[in-house]
Amino acid sequence: MHELGIMESALDAVRHQAVKHGASRVSRIVLRIGTLAGVDQAALRFAYEALAPTSIAAGAVLEIETVPARARCAACSTEFGVERGFIFQCPQCGEYSGDIRAGQELGIARLEFPDL
Ligand SMILES: [Zn+2]
Repeated sequence: MHELGIMESALDAVRHQAVKHGASRVSRIVLRIGTLAGVDQAALRFAYEALAPTSIAAGAVLEIETVPARARCAACSTEFGVERGFIFQCPQCGEYSGDIRAGQELGIARLEFPDL
C-alpha cells in the first residue's frame, strides 16, 4: 500500500509547515488529489487513521479534494475532461493528446492551525 508512504510524506510536510508558522498542532488538513494521481482515497484515509494519532495531526480533520482530470488538444486547443488512461482523444477534432492539464495533483491544498 503506497498510500502509507504518501501519507508519511504528507504528515512530514504538515509538520514542516507547522514549525514554519510556529503552530504546535493542526486542526484541518485538506489534500488535493487528482483522479490520475493513482491514489486510492480509502487507503489514504486508512493510512491517515493509522499515522495521524502519533503525529502533529493528532485530532485533525482530513479532507480530500478530488480534482477531475483534464487534457488539452494541441491541434484545436480544446480542453476536455478525461477518464483514467494515458492517451486521450479530443472530442472536438479527434486528435490524440497526452497533454494532461489537471488530474495529477497530489499534495496539500490547505492547512488550518488552531492557535494562529
Ligand atoms: Zn482537438
